Amino acid sequence: MKTLRNITSIAIIFLAISCKDQPKESPKELPKEIFDLVLSNAQVIDIESGAITKQTLYIRKGVIVKITPEFKKDFNTFKHIEADRVYVLPGFWDNHVHFRGGEELIAQNEKFLEEYINYGITTVRDAGGDLTPQVQQWNQEVYCCTRTGPTIYTSGPKLDGPNARWAGSLPVSTAEDITTALDSLQALDTDYVKLYDSTLSRKQYLDIITAAETRDMITSGHMPFTVELQEAIDAGLDNIEHLYYVLKGCSSNEKEITQQIIDGTLGFWGSMEQLIATYDETIAQQTFARLKANNVFVTPTLHIGDVLSYLDEVDHSQDAYLKCLEVAFTKTYEGRIKGVMNASAKAKKDRKELQQFFIILTKSLHDAGVSLLAGSDAGAYNSYTYPGPSLHGELAQMVEAGLTPLQALQTSGYNGSKFLKKKGYGIAVGNRADLVILSKNPLEDIRNTQSIRHTIKNGNLHTVDDNQVE
Ligand SMILES: [Zn+2]
Repeated sequence: MKTLRNITSIAIIFLAISCKDQPKESPKELPKEIFDLVLSNAQVIDIESGAITKQTLYIRKGVIVKITPEFKKDFNTFKHIEADRVYVLPGFWDNHVHFRGGEELIAQNEKFLEEYINYGITTVRDAGGDLTPQVQQWNQEVYCCTRTGPTIYTSGPKLDGPNARWAGSLPVSTAEDITTALDSLQALDTDYVKLYDSTLSRKQYLDIITAAETRDMITSGHMPFTVELQEAIDAGLDNIEHLYYVLKGCSSNEKEITQQIIDGTLGFWGSMEQLIATYDETIAQQTFARLKANNVFVTPTLHIGDVLSYLDEVDHSQDAYLKCLEVAFTKTYEGRIKGVMNASAKAKKDRKELQQFFIILTKSLHDAGVSLLAGSDAGAYNSYTYPGPSLHGELAQMVEAGLTPLQALQTSGYNGSKFLKKKGYGIAVGNRADLVILSKNPLEDIRNTQSIRHTIKNGNLHTVDDNQVE
């Protein structure tokens, strides 16, 4: 497991001038500038263009305050990294994680914060859980630099119907419930609205999106299969989590399948085979064009799909990450494991075929210009989808689907910040210093995102040991 090294050991300290040695005040000499951290001659990757240029970055009070093409030692700094042989890029974003599992798992969830930093992840998007007060407190502490961890943008509790699947969800079954739920999210100052589909009715689902839209709130979610994708887009949904819902909107039989779901003669999983069989390229392209025109993002979550689809074949018992998980946490893995093990041979085969279909669908969405978000779905209950490494798995899956490494990297923070309308992403003067330093070029091989030497969060340097490129 990766550990934090004493950061001072690699620091070069320039502030050693004693008062006695200081030259007498001269009107011609300006005092030297002082920085907290300087990365000299770094190979900086432009996430938009993929260009790599030599630059020196100067960081003070958590912010990039100066960028120069050359390096001249005409300043003082508390820490200095000679970065000429490493690659510097914005810290990674995991655009779909969960902090959850109730009181018993608060300490375990808290430990993940440092793990995210160890894996170069400086921002996560929490897609709903039952630990909102803790999540907001941790985020505040990260902001104040009293805690090591990523910035957490959170939906707070999910919105679902009565007796929802996930603990902590806000139940919505009437128009008043929608007002109450959205009021409470705004009172909590959450970053977006997360909709779930375990018991939420078709009407309430669409009405929530419409109401959120009028309040200028960002929406993201699953989609009840009683709804047609076009209806969700028209209502104003901003991001689709997982590909089932996109697949539904690509079927020549969507209306009939939706009616069968409403009638109760067909279930969610039961419809997948039909949806694949009735996938229509013309309809798919129309759907992709609508998603693009309406600026709807899609979060494919391919990595977790891969892990869950192959649970019956892959032995995870020796996974190194398991060492940092409490027994109470790994217990939450059991439900999905049992579900796969008890499934019929046909169901197991279908699940794998669906995963292969989603990989192709991801590339089609990308080719059609739909903005994708790299999200891992890491958190309790999501078996072997570990907080930290899973984001790297998701980026690798994007490349496996056919994106270039640069395009895959863009689905992390570049697209993530656009979706949540957060300013200040990227390497530019005035932006927060959230950076990752890699020893190998990720544009040559996406697996090099794991060659992490340092993560810089709010200007604070964290050195990462024991890197393994799988
Ligand atoms: Zn999720």
